[in-house]
Amino acid sequence: MGLGFISKVKEIEDEYVPLYRTIIECSSCGDKELMKVYKGGCTCGNIQINILESTSKDSYNNKIFSFKTISYKKEEPLIYDILFEQELP
Ligand SMILES: [Zn+2]
Repeated sequence: MGLGFISKVKEIEDEYVPLYRTIIECSSCGDKELMKVYKGGCTCGNIQINILESTSKDSYNNKIFSFKTISYKKEEPLIYDILFEQELP
């Protein structure tokens, strides 16, 4: 740096605490637990969940990124976020 100072600010990474949970819901049979499905589908077979692996790697963890893919036969899935605190126990 040409400005005559050295940055001493340390970057502190806050621990990531998710506030929301993503819900993938089948509008045909009402299955709301599809976000937890790695590969498979809902109870009525309308929605299919798959995994698509990325061609790039996470250089930090050396893991392959993957994406969740959703396809449907008849009814479109509902995808939305809900606050954890709004969830019923
Ligand atoms: Zn279904």
